[in-house]
Amino acid sequence: MTVLPPCPKCNSEYTYEDGDNFVCPECAHEWPKVAAEAVEETKVFKDAFGTVLNDGDTVTVIKDLKIKGSSSVVKVGTKVKNIRLVDGDHDIDCKIDGIGAMQLKTEFVKKA
Ligand SMILES: [Zn+2]
Repeated sequence: MTVLPPCPKCNSEYTYEDGDNFVCPECAHEWPKVAAEAVEETKVFKDAFGTVLNDGDTVTVIKDLKIKGSSSVVKVGTKVKNIRLVDGDHDIDCKIDGIGAMQLKTEFVKKA
């Protein structure tokens, strides 16, 4: 059974779905379903220790990471500033001093 969200205006539990909207029969408030679903689907990114990461955070690499197609290694303890979180296998887009743009996995970093 789908649980419908309570009315954001009057908190009534007797809301129902009407096409792309939710409708509250008590105060006649209507709001789009899309927004409610988008909020639930927002992905939460966490570092190796479960700390929530946000765009613009600074993280520290916790494991030597080989860079594909090169002999360089991102060393443990490397600080990565201003990360950008993306949806994908490698979920951090960033730029590392001396290496350049690359992608990391949240499971190999720690929030600084
Ligand atoms: Zn209402």
